[in-house]
Amino acid sequence: MDKRALRGLRRAVGRHNALTEPADLLLYSYDSSTARGMPGAVVLPASTEEVAAVVKVCAQHGIPFVARGAGTNLSGGSAPIRGGVVIALSRMNRVLDLDLPNQRAVVEAGVVNLDLQNILAPHGLQFCPDPASQKASTIGGNVAENAGGPHCLKYGVTVNHVLGLTVVLPSGDIRRFGSKAEDAPGYDLVGLFVGSEGTFGVTTEMVLRLRPLPESTQIVVAFFDTLEAAGGAVSRIIAAGMVPAALEIMDKATIEAVEASFPSGLPTDVEAVLLIEVEGLEGALDGQAERCASICRELEARSAEIGRTPEERERLWSARRSAFGATARLSPAMLVTDATVPRTRLPEVLRQIQQIERKHGLRIAKIFHAGDGNLHSNILFDRDDPDGLRRAEAAATEIFHVAAGVEGTITGEHGVGAEKPRFMSLIYSREDIEAQRKVQRVFDPAGIANPGKVLPEPEAAAEGTA
Ligand SMILES: Cc1cc2nc3c(=O)[nH]c(=O)nc-3n(C[C@H](O)[C@H](O)[C@H](O)COP(=O)(O)OP(=O)(O)OC[C@H]3O[C@@H](n4cnc5c(N)ncnc54)[C@H](O)[C@@H]3O)c2cc1C
Repeated sequence: MDKRALRGLRRAVGRHNALTEPADLLLYSYDSSTARGMPGAVVLPASTEEVAAVVKVCAQHGIPFVARGAGTNLSGGSAPIRGGVVIALSRMNRVLDLDLPNQRAVVEAGVVNLDLQNILAPHGLQFCPDPASQKASTIGGNVAENAGGPHCLKYGVTVNHVLGLTVVLPSGDIRRFGSKAEDAPGYDLVGLFVGSEGTFGVTTEMVLRLRPLPESTQIVVAFFDTLEAAGGAVSRIIAAGMVPAALEIMDKATIEAVEASFPSGLPTDVEAVLLIEVEGLEGALDGQAERCASICRELEARSAEIGRTPEERERLWSARRSAFGATARLSPAMLVTDATVPRTRLPEVLRQIQQIERKHGLRIAKIFHAGDGNLHSNILFDRDDPDGLRRAEAAATEIFHVAAGVEGTITGEHGVGAEKPRFMSLIYSREDIEAQRKVQRVFDPAGIANPGKVLPEPEAAAEGTA
């Protein structure tokens, strides 16, 4: 890294918070995807002003920068694939304002999702987005990825719960969009920044909408002999006019992985488990839960039971939350895709994914936010097998084509990151992609904010090879 730039970074955050030792750089060279890239420096700012000072140095020297929360993203978003400066927001972890009467919170970007939930719960409140990574992932990362989670079926994804942002633009200027009020006048720049994956600048503070915790919840657990039947039950439940808080499916490979790592009492001889959570007023729940269970039985679920105790509910949810980690232990490497399809198309898409699995001789563990049609195909492979990554990528490519072919999309919540720009052309025309690029350039004309992410290179998009 240029010596003058490094001096500038040290001045911005203090010598101890600007890391350049090879071991430190290595730690920030990857995230939870397969993408990698070595940064020239890592900085740990403690305030919006320090972030602005860092970004100004990057702008002056034309150095790329990558904002980083907890690095849990699954698409290469926070991997510094073009080198440059990693801006790690872990020291910016304060809740700045808890406005209980108005059900608002103002937080710094590095606040961990579950830490916020734990602060809110005693007040009977929650921040609805609940990614399964919530023990580690930050609100800044959730906002940048427009994260979803099991309960986003009922409440909507992150963008529905963010009212205001403080951002540092790629020029180093600080700007504020939105406010605590419901409907900010002018253009919806909050909506534009949410999900922009760090390519418009660094978000440092956010105004969040909170909601009351439900008075009561009930969980139904159903076991099926085919994945398709479980997928069919999801469509039928929603077609019956119910909107459960969550509808989650795990397949046999995932159940086996969970039971091997975090035994939860799930049967390993079934093909799928469907978790259905309903919530609301105490008296209304029994009827709804029973209707969901009877739809599952009509679709020949081996069993469909209502979990009666909070302990049972917690046991099932912790099985679901541990599923990614457990699956990752099945093989040396895992390529995660989160293609999303209209939920009525789930059964046929599942059939096609099973064919892809057989064709490439791979094991694909499937976990999905089924209510949203958001299908996580976790492709297991061995990096040491020279053909392993190639076959995994070939299978992922085919899965994206299948999803696009049924009017689905290449990512439901994990972002495009570094792994999926080349698949954007399955969803958008060249002109559509160029329109998006023009928006990105308004904020970042020099192309230094998380370059190489989200959009394909102009030449690739122009050739239609993206
Ligand atoms: C086990 C597991 C389960 C998961 N479950 C879910 C799930 O249920 N739902 C879901 O949506 N995702 C899930 N994910 C993916 C991931 O946790 C989310 O994308 C999460 O929002 C990332 O947050 P993070 O703090 O780790 O951000 P990072 O991974 O550090 O960054 C993600 C992206 O956001 C950008 N970014 C981070 N902070 C900022 C900021 N302050 N300003 C601007 N840009 C920023 C980064 O540059 C990067 O592009 C899961 C991941 C794992 C490993």
